[in-house]
Amino acid sequence: DRPTGVSVPACFDYALRLFQSRLRESGVAVERDWPEAETWVRADLVRLEQVLVNLIGNALQAMSQTPQPRLRLIIEPDEERVRIRVVDNGPGIAAEHLGQIFEPFFTTKSPGSGLGLGLSISARIIDDLGGELSADRATGGGARFTITLPRAAGPD
Ligand code: ADP
Ligand code: MG
Repeated sequence: DRPTGVSVPACFDYALRLFQSRLRESGVAVERDWPEAETWVRADLVRLEQVLVNLIGNALQAMSQTPQPRLRLIIEPDEERVRIRVVDNGPGIAAEHLGQIFEPFFTTKSPGSGLGLGLSISARIIDDLGGELSADRATGGGARFTITLPRAAGPD
């Protein structure tokens, strides 16, 4: 699992395919906000996919009571780094929880629906890849998760 060049749009597409029927059933509007040219990061394909699946899964759970659920997937390439964002318009993360959500077993979900491990594992994965995972409030409410990873020129 040596880090190689991984296509970020391809990872997002994989995660979206996985959630395809749930997205459709819940009427979630998906917005792909990324450059036409493919963006690559130095990462491990399977592990980056796992993190995106965790973040999108959380977003869908958070928006389950949201009248017009909207999921924004953003890729912002910089010269050396790439910011990858998953933004929802759910209730957002309470300010007093922001410091705890990356702790193992922290969950606000009812027993059985959340183990509280997704974000701690995701943060660990991104950290191992030499990147960062952070959370804040989206403009207009909702949650915004940002992964920062080193940019790669291509697949290897
Ligand atoms: P779990 O999903 O099992 O609760 P996670 O580690 O994935 O565990 O998330 C921890 C907690 O972070 C959640 O219980 C929730 O309180 C908060 N959280 C994560 N993603 C979101 C989101 N998109 N919107 C609001 N809260 C979130
Ligand atoms: Mg989760």
